[in-house]
Amino acid sequence: KRVEVPASEHGIDPKLVDERAINVVRTLQRAGYEAYVVGGAVRDLLVGLRPKDFDVATNATPEQVKGLFRRAFIIGRRFRIVHVIHGRGRDHEVIEVSTFRAYMDNSEATQVEGNEKTSKAALAGSAHAVDASGRVLRDNVWGPQVEDAARRDFTVNAMYYDPESQVVVDYHHGIADVKKKLLRLIGDPLTRYREDPVRIIRAVRFMAKLGFTLEKKTAAPIAETVPLLANVPISRMFDEMVKLLQTGHALASVESLKALGLHRGVFPVLDAVFDESRSTPEEFARQQAFIRQALQDTDRRVGEGKPVAPSFLLACLLWHDVQAGWRKNQAAGEHPAPALQQAIDAVFDARIGDISGRGKLGADMREIWMMQPRLERRQANTALTMIEQPRFRAGFDFLRLRADVGEAPVELAEWWEDFSMGSDDEREALLTAVR
Ligand code: ATP
Ligand code: MG
Repeated sequence: KRVEVPASEHGIDPKLVDERAINVVRTLQRAGYEAYVVGGAVRDLLVGLRPKDFDVATNATPEQVKGLFRRAFIIGRRFRIVHVIHGRGRDHEVIEVSTFRAYMDNSEATQVEGNEKTSKAALAGSAHAVDASGRVLRDNVWGPQVEDAARRDFTVNAMYYDPESQVVVDYHHGIADVKKKLLRLIGDPLTRYREDPVRIIRAVRFMAKLGFTLEKKTAAPIAETVPLLANVPISRMFDEMVKLLQTGHALASVESLKALGLHRGVFPVLDAVFDESRSTPEEFARQQAFIRQALQDTDRRVGEGKPVAPSFLLACLLWHDVQAGWRKNQAAGEHPAPALQQAIDAVFDARIGDISGRGKLGADMREIWMMQPRLERRQANTALTMIEQPRFRAGFDFLRLRADVGEAPVELAEWWEDFSMGSDDEREALLTAVR
C-alpha cells in the first residue's frame, strides 16, 4: 500500500538535502517524469544524519535521463544507472539516477549456467537473469514505483522523498521501522538472500552504522545462506568490505562480522587478518592490537569528518600477510627489496584480485609498505628525500602505528617526527646523531 507521509509527520530537515540532488529531481520532474530522492539517503535523513551521497529514482529510462543533463553517463551492466556529474576535478559530485525496476520473480528470469564471467554471451541479451542458486546477475527490467520499492533490500531503504512537496512515499512501513531501529528485509528473507547474498553484508553494515537491530525473521536464514557469498565476484566483495570499513564504525563492523561468524572465509582480506596459524601467540596478539588501533583511528577520523583513504587501512590489514611473504621470499634467498615487491604482488593477487582497475589504490598501498624498511634504515643521505615524498605522511603514520604496538622502536618514530618537523639546524643535529 502506498502511503504518503507529510513533513509534519516525518520531520526531515530540508537543510540536510543536497542542492544538486534537488536540482536533478527538479529537472526530471519538469521534463514530465516522476523523480524522488531514494534509498539510503531518505533513511539517513529520517534519523537526522546528513547523507554522504544521494540517489535519485525516476520512471525515465537511462537514455531519457542522459538526454536531460549536460554531463551524464550510463554505467553498469548488472544494474544500468546514470551518473549525473556536477562540478569538476577533485570536488565533483555524482548523483546516481536509477530507473524504477520491476520486481521479478526468479521463475520469470533467464536462468544462466555458471556466473557473470563464464556466461557473458547469454547475459548480454537478457534484462533479467539469475544463476543456478537464484543469484541475480542482471536486473534491468523497468517497472512501476510500487515494484521498485518491493525489490529494494530493507524496508528502511525503500522510501522515496520528493524535495518539492517534502512528502515521503512509504510502501513497507519503513518509517515505523526507522523509529523502531529495525532492519527488516522486504519479502521472504531466504529468497532475498538467494537473489543477492551481499544483502547479508549490507545488514552488518547498517547495524554497525545506524545501531539498528536485525529483525528475527531477517536474521534467521543468514547461517544457511552465508556459503552463497562464495559465488559473488571477488571485486564486489572487496567493494563491500571497503564500505564496511568506511562507515565510521569499522571496529563495530568487524565485531558484528565475528558475532555472525563472517570474519573468516568470507572476505579474503579479513582471512589474512585472522590467520593465527603463521605467528606465535605473542606476535598474533600484537598484530591484533595493530589492527584494532588502525580501525579505531579510522573511526575517529570519520567521526571528525576527515577523509579516510582506504589505501592506508588496507595497508594495515594486509601488513602481516605481506611481512610473512617477505620473510619467506628472503629465506628462499631473494634480496630484501625484490622479496618485498614479490610479497606485495602475491598479496594483491590472493586478497584483492585484479587491482589494476582500482586507480591509485595499489600504488599507494605499495608505497606505504616499501617505505617501511627505508624508514627503519634511517640513512642520513636519503632522509631529506624521504620526508619530501608526497606519501611520507602515510608511511610515517604507518610506522608510528607499528611503534605504538611495539613492532618498531618508539624512538625511531619520534626521530622521523622530529626530523620532518624540524628546522635546518635541528635536522642537522638529528642526522649527526645517527651518522
Ligand atoms: P549507504 O548509506 O552506505 O550508501 P545505501 O542504502 O544508500 O547505504 P547503496 O549501496 O548506496 O546503499 O544503495 C542505494 C539503495 O539501493 C539502497 O538504499 C537500496 O534501496 C538499494 N539497494 C542497494 N543494494 C541493494 C541490494 N543488494 N538489494 C536490494 N536493494 C539494494
Ligand atoms: Mg547510498
